Amino acid sequence: MPSPPPPPGLLTLVRCGCRDVPYVSRRRPSDTRRREAVENRCGTAPTLEDPLSSHHPAAVLFDMDGTLVDSEKLWDVALQELAREYGGELSVAARRTIVGTSMAESMRIVHDDLGQPERDPQASAAWINARILDLFRTGLSWRPGAFALLRAVRAAGIPTALVTSSVRPLVEIALDTLGRDNFDAVVCGDEVVATKPHPEPYLTAARLLDVPIGRCVAIEDSATGVASALAAGAAVLAVPAEAPLPDMPGVHQVESLTGADLDLLTALVVNRAGATG
Ligand SMILES: [Mg+2]
Repeated sequence: MPSPPPPPGLLTLVRCGCRDVPYVSRRRPSDTRRREAVENRCGTAPTLEDPLSSHHPAAVLFDMDGTLVDSEKLWDVALQELAREYGGELSVAARRTIVGTSMAESMRIVHDDLGQPERDPQASAAWINARILDLFRTGLSWRPGAFALLRAVRAAGIPTALVTSSVRPLVEIALDTLGRDNFDAVVCGDEVVATKPHPEPYLTAARLLDVPIGRCVAIEDSATGVASALAAGAAVLAVPAEAPLPDMPGVHQVESLTGADLDLLTALVVNRAGATG
Protein backbone atom coordinates (compact mmCIF):
# COMPACT_ATOMS: atom_id res chain seq x y z
CA MET A 1 0.00 0.00 0.00
CA PRO A 2 1.57 3.35 -0.97
CA SER A 3 2.18 5.85 1.78
CA PRO A 4 -0.30 8.73 1.81
CA PRO A 5 1.07 12.14 0.85
CA PRO A 6 2.43 14.14 3.77
CA PRO A 7 0.49 17.19 4.94
CA PRO A 8 2.00 20.62 4.39
CA GLY A 9 4.60 21.81 6.85
CA LEU A 10 7.45 20.03 8.53
CA LEU A 11 7.25 18.75 12.05
CA THR A 12 9.84 19.73 14.62
CA LEU A 13 10.96 17.86 17.70
CA VAL A 14 11.72 19.32 21.11
CA ARG A 15 12.85 16.85 23.72
CA CYS A 16 12.33 17.37 27.42
CA GLY A 17 12.71 15.23 30.53
CA CYS A 18 9.81 13.93 32.57
CA ARG A 19 9.43 12.85 36.17
CA ASP A 20 8.09 9.50 37.21
CA VAL A 21 4.64 9.70 38.73
CA PRO A 22 2.13 7.13 39.97
CA TYR A 23 -0.50 6.07 37.47
CA VAL A 24 -4.14 5.79 38.26
CA SER A 25 -5.30 3.91 35.22
CA ARG A 26 -3.64 1.65 32.74
CA ARG A 27 -5.24 -0.60 30.19
CA ARG A 28 -2.40 -1.87 28.06
CA PRO A 29 -3.31 -2.37 24.40
CA SER A 30 -2.99 -5.85 23.11
CA ASP A 31 -0.88 -6.60 20.04
CA THR A 32 -3.25 -9.49 19.51
CA ARG A 33 -6.22 -7.14 19.49
CA ARG A 34 -4.46 -4.87 17.02
CA ARG A 35 -3.67 -7.80 14.76
CA GLU A 36 -7.23 -9.07 15.03
CA ALA A 37 -8.61 -5.65 14.14
CA VAL A 38 -6.48 -5.41 11.01
CA GLU A 39 -7.17 -9.06 10.17
CA ASN A 40 -10.90 -8.50 10.42
CA ARG A 41 -10.67 -5.56 8.07
CA CYS A 42 -8.25 -7.04 5.54
CA GLY A 43 -9.11 -10.72 5.78
CA THR A 44 -5.47 -11.66 6.41
CA ALA A 45 -3.19 -11.23 9.37
CA PRO A 46 -0.60 -8.44 8.95
CA THR A 47 3.06 -9.37 8.84
CA LEU A 48 5.93 -7.50 10.42
CA GLU A 49 6.56 -5.90 7.02
CA ASP A 50 2.94 -4.83 6.64
CA PRO A 51 3.03 -1.11 5.72
CA LEU A 52 -0.21 -0.63 7.61
CA SER A 53 1.26 -1.68 10.91
CA SER A 54 4.58 0.07 10.31
CA HIS A 55 3.20 3.43 9.20
CA HIS A 56 0.07 3.84 11.28
CA PRO A 57 0.48 5.93 14.44
CA ALA A 58 1.68 3.87 17.39
CA ALA A 59 -1.09 5.60 19.33
CA VAL A 60 -3.47 8.54 19.06
CA LEU A 61 -3.55 10.81 22.10
CA PHE A 62 -6.72 12.86 22.45
CA ASP A 63 -7.15 16.03 24.45
CA MET A 64 -10.65 16.19 25.95
CA ASP A 65 -12.03 19.73 26.50
CA GLY A 66 -12.64 21.47 23.22
CA THR A 67 -11.17 18.61 21.18
CA LEU A 68 -13.44 15.62 21.81
CA VAL A 69 -16.25 17.30 23.70
CA ASP A 70 -17.72 20.77 23.44
CA SER A 71 -17.02 21.41 27.09
CA GLU A 72 -15.26 24.75 26.71
CA LYS A 73 -18.70 26.35 26.36
CA LEU A 74 -19.63 24.83 29.73
CA TRP A 75 -16.43 26.24 31.21
CA ASP A 76 -17.48 29.63 29.78
CA VAL A 77 -20.71 29.41 31.77
CA ALA A 78 -19.06 28.34 35.01
CA LEU A 79 -16.22 30.88 34.82
CA GLN A 80 -18.54 33.79 34.05
CA GLU A 81 -20.83 32.76 36.90
CA LEU A 82 -17.85 32.71 39.25
CA ALA A 83 -16.73 36.14 38.04
CA ARG A 84 -20.23 37.53 38.68
CA GLU A 85 -20.28 35.85 42.08
CA TYR A 86 -17.21 37.96 42.80
CA GLY A 87 -18.89 41.10 41.42
CA GLY A 88 -17.08 41.28 38.09
CA GLU A 89 -16.97 40.10 34.47
CA LEU A 90 -14.29 37.87 33.00
CA SER A 91 -12.60 39.51 30.01
CA VAL A 92 -12.44 37.79 26.63
CA ALA A 93 -8.65 37.89 26.77
CA ALA A 94 -8.55 36.20 30.17
CA ARG A 95 -11.01 33.54 29.04
CA ARG A 96 -8.84 32.73 26.02
CA THR A 97 -5.75 32.51 28.17
CA ILE A 98 -7.45 30.03 30.47
CA VAL A 99 -8.18 27.51 27.70
CA GLY A 100 -6.08 24.39 28.24
CA THR A 101 -4.53 25.47 31.54
CA SER A 102 -4.70 23.75 34.92
CA MET A 103 -7.34 24.64 37.48
CA ALA A 104 -4.80 26.41 39.70
CA GLU A 105 -3.53 28.52 36.81
CA SER A 106 -7.10 29.21 35.66
CA MET A 107 -8.08 30.55 39.07
CA ARG A 108 -4.99 32.75 39.20
CA ILE A 109 -5.94 34.23 35.82
CA VAL A 110 -9.55 34.81 36.95
CA HIS A 111 -8.50 36.53 40.16
CA ASP A 112 -5.95 38.74 38.40
CA ASP A 113 -8.45 39.64 35.68
CA LEU A 114 -10.98 40.70 38.30
CA GLY A 115 -8.37 42.67 40.21
CA GLN A 116 -8.78 40.35 43.20
CA PRO A 117 -5.44 38.51 43.45
CA GLU A 118 -5.97 38.01 47.17
CA ARG A 119 -8.76 35.48 46.54
CA ASP A 120 -8.20 31.91 47.75
CA PRO A 121 -7.58 29.80 44.63
CA GLN A 122 -8.70 26.63 46.37
CA ALA A 123 -12.04 28.14 47.32
CA SER A 124 -12.58 29.35 43.77
CA ALA A 125 -11.58 25.97 42.37
CA ALA A 126 -14.04 24.23 44.66
CA TRP A 127 -16.83 26.55 43.49
CA ILE A 128 -15.97 25.93 39.83
CA ASN A 129 -15.66 22.17 40.30
CA ALA A 130 -19.09 21.92 41.87
CA ARG A 131 -20.68 23.99 39.10
CA ILE A 132 -18.88 22.32 36.21
CA LEU A 133 -19.80 18.86 37.51
CA ASP A 134 -23.46 19.83 37.23
CA LEU A 135 -22.96 21.25 33.76
CA PHE A 136 -21.06 18.16 32.57
CA ARG A 137 -23.85 15.88 33.75
CA THR A 138 -26.46 17.70 31.71
CA GLY A 139 -24.83 19.43 28.79
CA LEU A 140 -21.86 17.51 27.34
CA SER A 141 -21.75 16.98 23.58
CA TRP A 142 -19.20 15.79 21.00
CA ARG A 143 -17.18 18.19 18.87
CA PRO A 144 -17.86 17.86 15.13
CA GLY A 145 -16.16 14.81 13.65
CA ALA A 146 -14.62 13.73 16.94
CA PHE A 147 -16.71 10.62 17.51
CA ALA A 148 -16.23 9.37 13.94
CA LEU A 149 -12.45 9.82 14.15
CA LEU A 150 -12.22 8.10 17.53
CA ARG A 151 -14.32 5.23 16.23
CA ALA A 152 -12.12 4.88 13.12
CA VAL A 153 -8.95 4.82 15.23
CA ARG A 154 -10.39 2.17 17.53
CA ALA A 155 -11.66 0.10 14.61
CA ALA A 156 -8.11 0.04 13.22
CA GLY A 157 -6.85 -1.34 16.53
CA ILE A 158 -4.65 1.69 17.23
CA PRO A 159 -4.14 2.37 20.96
CA THR A 160 -5.67 5.55 22.31
CA ALA A 161 -5.26 7.73 25.36
CA LEU A 162 -7.24 10.60 26.81
CA VAL A 163 -4.78 13.31 27.92
CA THR A 164 -6.53 16.11 29.74
CA SER A 165 -5.87 18.90 32.21
CA SER A 166 -9.26 18.26 33.80
CA VAL A 167 -9.36 16.45 37.12
CA ARG A 168 -10.39 12.82 37.51
CA PRO A 169 -13.90 13.35 38.98
CA LEU A 170 -14.81 15.54 36.00
CA VAL A 171 -13.24 13.14 33.52
CA GLU A 172 -15.22 10.25 34.98
CA ILE A 173 -18.42 12.09 34.13
CA ALA A 174 -17.14 12.88 30.64
CA LEU A 175 -16.27 9.22 30.12
CA ASP A 176 -19.97 8.40 30.43
CA THR A 177 -20.29 10.23 27.09
CA LEU A 178 -16.89 9.39 25.60
CA GLY A 179 -16.98 5.70 26.49
CA ARG A 180 -14.46 4.16 28.87
CA ASP A 181 -13.70 1.35 26.47
CA ASN A 182 -12.58 3.86 23.85
CA PHE A 183 -9.33 4.59 25.73
CA ASP A 184 -6.45 2.34 26.72
CA ALA A 185 -5.13 4.97 29.12
CA VAL A 186 -6.46 8.13 30.76
CA VAL A 187 -4.14 10.85 32.08
CA CYS A 188 -5.88 13.53 34.16
CA GLY A 189 -4.61 16.88 35.34
CA ASP A 190 -4.55 15.79 38.97
CA GLU A 191 -2.53 12.67 38.18
CA VAL A 192 0.64 14.34 36.90
CA VAL A 193 3.17 16.52 38.65
CA ALA A 194 3.29 19.10 35.85
CA THR A 195 0.26 19.83 33.66
CA LYS A 196 0.16 21.17 30.10
CA PRO A 197 2.05 23.02 28.61
CA HIS A 198 4.66 20.79 30.26
CA PRO A 199 5.30 17.63 28.22
CA GLU A 200 4.68 15.32 31.18
CA PRO A 201 1.02 14.50 30.42
CA TYR A 202 1.80 13.30 26.88
CA LEU A 203 4.98 11.50 27.91
CA THR A 204 2.99 9.79 30.64
CA ALA A 205 0.37 8.64 28.14
CA ALA A 206 3.00 7.20 25.79
CA ARG A 207 4.64 5.38 28.67
CA LEU A 208 1.33 3.95 29.86
CA LEU A 209 0.67 2.67 26.35
CA ASP A 210 4.27 1.47 26.00
CA VAL A 211 4.72 3.24 22.66
CA PRO A 212 7.34 5.75 21.42
CA ILE A 213 5.99 9.28 21.68
CA GLY A 214 7.64 10.11 18.37
CA ARG A 215 5.23 7.75 16.60
CA CYS A 216 2.14 9.14 18.32
CA VAL A 217 -0.28 11.76 17.09
CA ALA A 218 -1.66 14.20 19.66
CA ILE A 219 -4.90 16.01 18.85
CA GLU A 220 -5.36 19.35 20.59
CA ASP A 221 -7.50 22.48 20.41
CA SER A 222 -5.48 24.95 22.52
CA ALA A 223 -2.09 26.61 22.36
CA THR A 224 -1.30 25.24 25.81
CA GLY A 225 -2.08 21.68 24.75
CA VAL A 226 -0.22 22.01 21.46
CA ALA A 227 2.86 23.24 23.34
CA SER A 228 2.69 20.22 25.65
CA ALA A 229 2.41 17.75 22.77
CA LEU A 230 5.19 19.40 20.78
CA ALA A 231 7.51 19.45 23.76
CA ALA A 232 6.81 15.77 24.34
CA GLY A 233 7.81 15.00 20.75
CA ALA A 234 4.48 13.89 19.26
CA ALA A 235 3.12 14.71 15.84
CA VAL A 236 0.40 17.28 16.42
CA LEU A 237 -2.99 17.81 14.82
CA ALA A 238 -4.58 21.05 16.00
CA VAL A 239 -8.29 21.77 15.74
CA PRO A 240 -8.94 25.16 17.36
CA ALA A 241 -12.21 25.52 19.23
CA GLU A 242 -12.68 28.61 21.39
CA ALA A 243 -9.67 30.59 20.24
CA PRO A 244 -7.80 30.70 16.92
CA LEU A 245 -4.31 29.26 16.82
CA PRO A 246 -1.38 30.80 14.94
CA ASP A 247 0.47 28.77 12.34
CA MET A 248 3.14 26.84 14.19
CA PRO A 249 6.06 24.79 12.87
CA GLY A 250 5.42 21.10 13.42
CA VAL A 251 1.66 21.50 13.78
CA HIS A 252 -0.93 20.57 11.17
CA GLN A 253 -4.11 22.56 11.69
CA VAL A 254 -7.65 21.75 10.55
CA GLU A 255 -10.87 23.69 11.07
CA SER A 256 -12.78 20.60 12.17
CA LEU A 257 -12.17 16.92 12.82
CA THR A 258 -14.93 16.20 10.30
CA GLY A 259 -12.35 15.90 7.55
CA ALA A 260 -9.69 14.11 9.60
CA ASP A 261 -9.12 10.40 8.99
CA LEU A 262 -6.54 7.65 9.44
CA ASP A 263 -4.71 8.66 6.28
CA LEU A 264 -4.11 12.13 7.70
CA LEU A 265 -2.94 10.79 11.08
CA THR A 266 -0.61 8.35 9.33
CA ALA A 267 0.79 11.09 7.12
CA LEU A 268 1.53 13.22 10.18
CA VAL A 269 3.60 10.43 11.73
CA VAL A 270 5.41 9.68 8.46
CA ASN A 271 6.15 13.36 7.92
CA ARG A 272 7.38 13.80 11.46
CA ALA A 273 9.69 10.79 11.13
CA GLY A 274 11.09 12.26 7.91
CA ALA A 275 11.62 15.66 9.51
CA THR A 276 13.49 14.29 12.51
CA GLY A 277 15.50 11.66 10.70
MG1 LIG B 1 -8.51 21.38 25.13
